Amino acid sequence: MKLIIKKAGKKGRGVFAGRNFKKWEKIIHVDLTKFKSYSKKELEKHPQRKSEHWDYIGRGRYVLTFHPYSYINHSCEPNIFVKHKTITISDFFAMRDIKKGKELTYDYGVNALDSFNKNKWIMKCKCGSKNCRKKIPADFFKQPITIQRKYYKCLPSSIKRKYRGEIKRLR
Ligand SMILES: [Zn+2]
Repeated sequence: MKLIIKKAGKKGRGVFAGRNFKKWEKIIHVDLTKFKSYSKKELEKHPQRKSEHWDYIGRGRYVLTFHPYSYINHSCEPNIFVKHKTITISDFFAMRDIKKGKELTYDYGVNALDSFNKNKWIMKCKCGSKNCRKKIPADFFKQPITIQRKYYKCLPSSIKRKYRGEIKRLR
C-alpha cells in the first residue's frame, strides 16, 4: 500500500509512507468535487460532524471525504507539500526523498486559504521541529514571510487573483 493510516502518538491518526518516495514525486491527488457535499445546516446535524474531517469547498458547501489526505498531520518542518489547482483540486508532492514508514506531514498554513474560517481560529502546533511556529493562524497571509515566499506558487489560481497585491510583495 502506498499510504498507511495509523496512530501517530498524541496527534491521533496520521498518514505514513507505505513505500519509498522520490523527491518531487506526486503522492496524492485530491478532487473534492467528486464527493457528496452538505450545507452548513446539514453538516451540523451530521452524526460524524465532530469525529471526522470536513473540507470547505466554497459557496457554503462542505464535504466529508474519508480520503487519506485528510489524516495527514501538520508539521512546521514537513516532508510533503500541497499544490492547489483550485480550491477543490490539489496534488501532494514529496519535498524530499521519503523512506517507507516515515510519517507524511505538510504545512497547514498553505491550506488556510481564505476568509471562510478565519474567525480567529489558530492552531496550536506541537510538531516538535526546531523551527516550530507554535501558532498557525488560519490565514495564508499571516504565516511568516519566509513561509509565504516558499508556498505562494502553490495557492489556487482564484486566490492568486484575489490577493494579487499581497502576492506581488512576495516576488
Ligand atoms: Zn510546529
